[in-house]
Amino acid sequence: MTAEHSEPTSVAHRSTRLGAQGEPLMRIRDLHVEYATRRGPLSAVDNLSLDIYRGEILGLVGESGCGKSTLGKALMRMIQPPGQITRGQLIFDGVDLMTLPETEMRKVRGARISMIFQDPMTSLNPVQRIDEHIIEAIRVHQPEISRREARRRAVELIERLGIGAKRLEDYPHQLSGGMRQRVMIGLALALKADIIIADEATTSLDVIVEAKFLDLLRELRDELNLTIILITHNIGIVAELADRVVVMYAGRVAEVADVDTLFHYPKHPYTQGLLKSVPNIDLDGDELYRMPGSPPNLIDPPGGCRFHPRCPQAKPICAQREPALAAVSPAEGEPTPHSEHLVHCWLYQEHE
Ligand code: SF4
Repeated sequence: MTAEHSEPTSVAHRSTRLGAQGEPLMRIRDLHVEYATRRGPLSAVDNLSLDIYRGEILGLVGESGCGKSTLGKALMRMIQPPGQITRGQLIFDGVDLMTLPETEMRKVRGARISMIFQDPMTSLNPVQRIDEHIIEAIRVHQPEISRREARRRAVELIERLGIGAKRLEDYPHQLSGGMRQRVMIGLALALKADIIIADEATTSLDVIVEAKFLDLLRELRDELNLTIILITHNIGIVAELADRVVVMYAGRVAEVADVDTLFHYPKHPYTQGLLKSVPNIDLDGDELYRMPGSPPNLIDPPGGCRFHPRCPQAKPICAQREPALAAVSPAEGEPTPHSEHLVHCWLYQEHE
């Protein structure tokens, strides 16, 4: 089954780093995150399983409230009450993070898995100069090195990120938004993080600063084999930068594919609708598609496939039973995907 959909023009077929992925760096299994509300538990991430590989840029997309930011925080065990991870495994580099005591988890959080938020001011200490932030981060990772050596490395690092060394003496509020985002990356690099999670990190930047920031992420991934998880509502950014894309709907994974396959041969009706609703200069006066309805209330979500009340292709079984997230083969005439193409939809699964 193919959908008629418009392709964002920036998604020309391009090479990705997929193909020789090896063992996943992180395996997420049956993850469930709930928030307690007065009306009952709200299931923000429901039974989610996903593999994340070293050196890939993974785009995480979906409408607001689909659980993508909650998933990002859950990977670092940063869900704050009234939320909590109620079950699941987060196997990172062979260790299930869910079994670590908080003291051990603190060594992973920030140091091996770092997160960059939309507003870095919330993560930077306003009364600490930039050099102090970076020197501290370097010495957390390597306490044996002197302050003088740490400062030399901080200069090297900040210059690599395109910020003049004299800005090291500034306080966070003296830097522009784009520079603060770069400092956040600098802190992650100083700590030698394996995974950087960028949660809507470019939303407050203007387009030129945003483009430079995205170029920097790509360069650093290429040089250092970093894993970058890009959480965004901006499909264009994902089209440009990601190797693989995870589409989330109502706390569940709807579809996972390499970026070429996802944008050119989407299978899940929700992904197809999402792509058709992206502004595209090829539209030639066609009106933008508007997906019918709105995301469900996750305190009392619809049974079966959570997308069924909005799905133009729903069948009777869709309201009764939840499909599996299962691998699909390319349809006739479609190229072989660069990585496993997973879809959570009855249209591609046998049922009685
Ligand atoms: Fe639509 Fe059914 Fe597929 Fe859900 S399972 S996306 S309702 S066709």
